[in-house]
Amino acid sequence: MIKFKIETWGCQMNEYDSQKMAGILKKAGYIETQSEKDAEIIILNTCSVREKAVHKIHSRLGVLKKRFKGEKILGVCGCVASQEGRALLEKVPYLQFVLGTRSTHLISKAVEQAQNGMRFLDADDHESEMDHPVTFAERSGQTKAYISIIEGCDNFCTYCVVPYTRGREHSRPLQTILDEVRDVVQNKNIHEIELLGQNVNSYNYRGTRFPDLLEAVSAEPGVQRLRFLTSHPKDFSERLVRVIAANSNICRTIHLPMQSGSDVILRKMGRKYTRAEYLEKIEMIREILPENWLSSDFIVGFPGESEKDFMETMDVIRSVKYDNLFSFKYSPRPGTAALKLKEPAVLNSAASRRLSILQHTQEQIQLNKHLRMINRIFPVLVESVSKKNPDFLTGRTEGNHVVHFKAGRGAQLIGRIVNVEIKSVTMASLKGVLI
Ligand code: SF4
Repeated sequence: MIKFKIETWGCQMNEYDSQKMAGILKKAGYIETQSEKDAEIIILNTCSVREKAVHKIHSRLGVLKKRFKGEKILGVCGCVASQEGRALLEKVPYLQFVLGTRSTHLISKAVEQAQNGMRFLDADDHESEMDHPVTFAERSGQTKAYISIIEGCDNFCTYCVVPYTRGREHSRPLQTILDEVRDVVQNKNIHEIELLGQNVNSYNYRGTRFPDLLEAVSAEPGVQRLRFLTSHPKDFSERLVRVIAANSNICRTIHLPMQSGSDVILRKMGRKYTRAEYLEKIEMIREILPENWLSSDFIVGFPGESEKDFMETMDVIRSVKYDNLFSFKYSPRPGTAALKLKEPAVLNSAASRRLSILQHTQEQIQLNKHLRMINRIFPVLVESVSKKNPDFLTGRTEGNHVVHFKAGRGAQLIGRIVNVEIKSVTMASLKGVLI
């Protein structure tokens, strides 16, 4: 039996694509392994959102070549494959196939060709392929199912490579999404669903908009927890928040990427909202959903970002007090409009300092928020046995906090929602006891 290993970099969408490819290959008779030594086929599902991620992939390819001296079939899928296409195949002579983000359904064909000594490249659009229900995705061992509702992005934020790697927006049919939800709930026994899209709020399938879709998925029997990712602030509506408020199985966890607290920088980023408009939406969320967990993304060191601009970002972070933040230094990406900006680049040392101030501040905010959770009881979806201590289980609260707790009944609780009283916390996670 021929074994394959998929290594996944990047976002939830890539994880979902890897699950789809694993499902296709298993159906075709291949066996999945986590061991690179045992695998005959190694597939790198890649991310190109930052330069560092692309470097890592090239260096990983070099390591695999050196380690296995051409004994393995090597393939690259995902965003680097979409972005570099044929050039990647030409640049890396020992690579057997390159499959773009919209070509993952061709994984079996690519592998077969490689086994017959032929190289394979496909980075085409294949838009209609996205309309079929993905009931073949490999979801064993999962307690949460990713389901893509819209692929691609039309926003073209000036720093972002996604519209070039994942293509134009394409909303998947409502019925296809509902079929996938029913499949995971009824056949895979998974009760937490996360709807994915680069901008879920742009969802529009023949007039069905995102709040309608969310309502429909929430009404499906067996959906205990429903999340979604990612929202663009310009499209984030009050109607959506009211749908969340009216349905108790939709998590009050909202990821609303702000990217910068400065209007000058937001304009240069092409984000199409102002600081005041963004903060109004935060206020609206907090008014309608008194219990809520907010997270965001911020970029520091965007070209032309002054100390004043950065202070405006810090001001937002200190006043909103997010439950979680994802923060990065600006990374120039090929083909993006930000490369043409006249503004001077921010020195790497200044960007690093800003990132460290931002992250340190957020750590304090997060720790204080976690401290307030002590002695309170939270429903936790049990995900796995703790990697550090087999006597402990690990799960997540509705607010996405990682919780470790001791459980006598152990692994049988995986996939269930249990009540846990929080007893101690760190900045990164919570520890509690099963109630
Ligand atoms: S909304 Fe902007 S940041 Fe998000 S994927 Fe689209 S272009 Fe990139």
